[in-house]
Amino acid sequence: MSEADDCLFCKIIAGQIPSTKVFEDDTTYAFKDINPKAKVHVLVVPKHHYANVAELAAADPAELAHIVAVAQHIADESFHGAFRLVFNTGLDAGQTVFHVHAHVMTGEKLDE
Ligand code: C5P
Repeated sequence: MSEADDCLFCKIIAGQIPSTKVFEDDTTYAFKDINPKAKVHVLVVPKHHYANVAELAAADPAELAHIVAVAQHIADESFHGAFRLVFNTGLDAGQTVFHVHAHVMTGEKLDE
C-alpha cells in the first residue's frame, strides 16, 4: 500500500470523503477547511500526492506556482486580493495531514 492509498486528502480529492469544493481543475483541488481560522479559510492541494511543500517544490515547482495563483484568485473573489498563505511543514510545525496543502486565509482583515 502506498502513502497515497491511506491519505485523507487523496480521498477528499477522489470524492470518497465529502468536502465543500471551491475550485477544481486538472491538477488542483480547493475546499473549505472544516475548522476555519478566518472568515474564508480554504485548503488548496495538488491532486498528486506530495507529503509537504518542500517535496512539491522540488518535484513540480509549476504546480506550487499554480497553487499560489489559485490562492490569489480566491482572495480576489472574497477580499480585494489580500490573503495569508501558510504551509505547515512537519509535525512540530503543526502539520497533521501529510498531503501538502496551502491554508488560504482571507475574507476579512487578519490579525498581524
Ligand atoms: O496544516 P495542518 O495539517 O494542521 O492542516 C490540516 C487542516 O485540515 C486543518 O486545518 C483541518 O481543519 C483540515 N481538515 C479539513 N477536513 C478534514 C480534515 C481536516 O478541512 N476532513
